[in-house]
Amino acid sequence: AVRGATLRARAEIDLAALRANVRSLRAHAPGAAFMAVVKADGYGHGALPCARAAVEAGATWLGTATPQEALALRAPGAGVPDDVRVMCWLWTPGGPWREAIEADLDVSVSGLWALEEVTAAARLAGRPARVHLKADTGLGRGGCVPGDWAELIAGALRAEADGLLRVVGLWSHLACADEPGHPSVDAQLTRFREMVAQAEQQGIDPEVRHIANSAATLTLPESHFDLVRSGIALYGVSPSPEIGTPADFGLRQVMTLTASLALVKHVPGGEGIGYGHHYVTPGATTLGLVPLGYADGIPRHASSAGPVLVEGKWRTVAGRIAMDQFTVDLGGDELRAGAEAILFGPGDRGEPTVEDWAQAAGTIGYEIVTRIGTRVPRVHV
Ligand code: PLP
Repeated sequence: AVRGATLRARAEIDLAALRANVRSLRAHAPGAAFMAVVKADGYGHGALPCARAAVEAGATWLGTATPQEALALRAPGAGVPDDVRVMCWLWTPGGPWREAIEADLDVSVSGLWALEEVTAAARLAGRPARVHLKADTGLGRGGCVPGDWAELIAGALRAEADGLLRVVGLWSHLACADEPGHPSVDAQLTRFREMVAQAEQQGIDPEVRHIANSAATLTLPESHFDLVRSGIALYGVSPSPEIGTPADFGLRQVMTLTASLALVKHVPGGEGIGYGHHYVTPGATTLGLVPLGYADGIPRHASSAGPVLVEGKWRTVAGRIAMDQFTVDLGGDELRAGAEAILFGPGDRGEPTVEDWAQAAGTIGYEIVTRIGTRVPRVHV
């Protein structure tokens, strides 16, 4: 592994932690197959290494949003075994259906336009598509609403009879699984069971029924069905502080983000710091310059709030986070340029976590990790 001193900043990705997280998640859903969701470049952690590590730890499915992300998992040299199922769900008209069928992807269909396109592509490919019909059970995003479900099922059955597709999955997605006791969860599970039953009565015989995301995998056994789809928890970040910390679920944060201080200097009291002078030094102090900014995904909303561990102490962002850099108040400590600044990690060294940054920025851990930019090298260890 490359060690920090030569790098401005780096995101270390602990693949052993990711593998252990997969094992913990599988233990929470012992009767279900496990899909590792690696969309958005593995939530910012690197899709391919994370996909391979997840498979090593027992994931038999991989999930992405776009077909391009899924096709990349099937590219020569990707290192994903052929028998691992790869599913993608975010399709738009004119999408690469034929390539998806030829690459042996599992695809999602929510409505009639997609059914028409996938069957046309299957004719060209000369082989049936593997389709998961998506039900909107109350998220109001992708998925077929109950009123249109019978028609979609009938169309899928006709295509199945013509040998153009096989409905391998019936699936949906939850809106509020990360809010314990939210009444919509039971309502969605009830509707899902009804829509599955209706499809099966019409003649669909799916391999897998699935609705659970990370929060549901961890806290709602009744949602597990045949397959759970876990993203954020795979990376050791809790879906929400309301349901618990990563440690509560036997999870460990995978990404550690560090930088080398670019400059340390003495300043008097009363100095305005950074754009807009939103921080004024309360007295004579030392400042450290962290060479990361919002172009690297450090949220500007965490200005004057984000925590950074430097030399064993939490320091706070002093003033605005700029595009490429921000300042921390070192409180008079005499440090040197090159000292390590840890923005977040699993917490072993007393450093802040992804969740601390999410709170400082008024957002969720998902946004913190997925936005870490391409200028920050990922170092997989
Ligand atoms: N399933 C679908 C359809 C998703 O869009 C996502 C991510 O947003 C997931 C599963 C994984 O969700 P989580 O990261 O909360 O586990």
